[in-house]
This record gives sequence, C-alpha cells and structure tokens, in this order.
Amino acid sequence: MLNIGSHISSAKGYEAMGKQAQKLGASTFAFFTRNPRGGSAKEIRPEDAARFREMWKEYGDRVIVAHAPYTLNACSDKEEVRRFARETFASDLERMEYTPGNYYNFHPGSHVGHGAEEGIRQIAQMLNGCLKEEQSTTVLLETMAGKGSEIGRSFEELRAILDRVELSAKMGICLDTCHVWDAGYDIVNRLDEVLEAFDAVIGLERLKAVHINDSMNPCGSRKDRHARIGEGTIGLEAFGRIVRHPGLRDLPFILETPNDDAGWAEEIRLLRSLAG
Ligand code: FE
Ligand code: FE
Ligand code: ZN
Repeated sequence: MLNIGSHISSAKGYEAMGKQAQKLGASTFAFFTRNPRGGSAKEIRPEDAARFREMWKEYGDRVIVAHAPYTLNACSDKEEVRRFARETFASDLERMEYTPGNYYNFHPGSHVGHGAEEGIRQIAQMLNGCLKEEQSTTVLLETMAGKGSEIGRSFEELRAILDRVELSAKMGICLDTCHVWDAGYDIVNRLDEVLEAFDAVIGLERLKAVHINDSMNPCGSRKDRHARIGEGTIGLEAFGRIVRHPGLRDLPFILETPNDDAGWAEEIRLLRSLAG
C-alpha cells in the first residue's frame, strides 16, 4: 500500500501527531520541527515522544519526514541569519533523536545575490559543522522551484552540495513534484527521462522521499505555488504514473497541498487508489 500522509501540526506534540495521522488514514506524515516562519521551538516532553514511538511502532513504524523552518538559510548575506541556520540545524538534529531513524528535510537556501557557487559552499559548510557520525537521522535536501535565488533548482546544484559534504552517507534528497515541475523538469510528459537524469546526476538511491503536490503554474515557471492533487497543471494522470513508478512507489509521499483534514484524507485515498 502506498505510504502517504500530509503535513501535521506539531503544536500539541508527538503523540497528538500520531493520532492525527491515524485519523487521516495516513501511514507517514511531515511536521515542522519549530515555527516555520519564525524559528522558536517548543520544549520536547520526553514522555510524549516515548508514547509516540510506542504507538507508531504498533501502527507500522513507517519513517516520518520532519521539515526545517523556512527561515533557515545557511547562505544568507547576513551573518546573524547564517548563525541562526547553524544553531537551528544543530538543535533540530538533537531534537530528531527523540524519534530516531527518521528524515529531516530542509530547503538548501537562497544565496541572495552572491552566486550559487558561494551559496553551495556555505550550505555544505553548515552541514559539515552539524552532521555527526552517531546521528540516526538522514538529512534531506529538497528540490526547489528556483524562485528568486533559490539553490536546488537543478539536480546538478544538489549534487554539488552532496559532493562537498564529508558525512554524505547521512544525506539524501526529497523530490517535490510541484518544485521540480516549476523548475522545468517535465514530470508530466517525460517522467522516465527526468528520473534517469536524477539517477545519472545524483543517483536514485539518494532519493528518500517525495513531496506530492500539484502546481498552479506551468513547467519552468519558477513560481512554487502548490495546488491540490488533480487541480493543477500536473494533473491526475501524471500523479497516477508518479505513484506507480518503480523508482518512486516505495518512498514516503507527503502532501503539502492547500487543503483541510477532510481534503487530505480524500487525497490519501485517491492516490492510494491510483497506486493500485
Ligand atoms: Fe519544503
Ligand atoms: Fe515541499
Ligand atoms: Zn513549495
């Protein structure tokens, strides 16, 4: 059965997220480790994390996909923003050990004018300062739409980051369908070719998760506006091919569609039925 879930609010803690996932019929989920637009984090209650691990084990023990705050930017032109990125990243990796063996996804960053090459160097530098041999978490770079000065708009840019990371065994990629489409990868008409390019540049074994979102804009638009599944420019047929593709179908799929609980439960059912 397709392993799929949506983003779930982390405001009430881990056990509440697990229960919410069950309610939606999800087998995985995503959550923000802290306020996505600010960066403040709630204190973790170890007993809450322990209750979650217990219930999740009984529910299938599928990998979950945490998301770093949007404000994390290791390649900002401002030192205080870069410091926030380092500190937040290190602290989030510690927090992730309350739920061992899962994924921590982040947007590589925006170089705000000083060039992708320098940005890539700074992102790798943050990773080299934060990754630890003993961590159980795999860190995922998200494929980006390429709006503004976003790094990660091409598989080559993500490869360039991975090449500079010392503990690269701790790293993987999360492919966002809206983002790659907006970045110019035609996953509607050329899904096989796109995944072959991914394999050639990065290696499909690095692909650990999929953010499954339709897009409000055409391929190559570099916009990053998510649409509900089947209501955007990617469309239902293409999503059928995506969830059935042998290179993708066993990965965790995360919905980041503009929806409510009932809508996500419905999208989960719909995509499972398309997966067959
Ligand atoms: Fe994201
Ligand atoms: Fe995403
Ligand atoms: Zn997005």
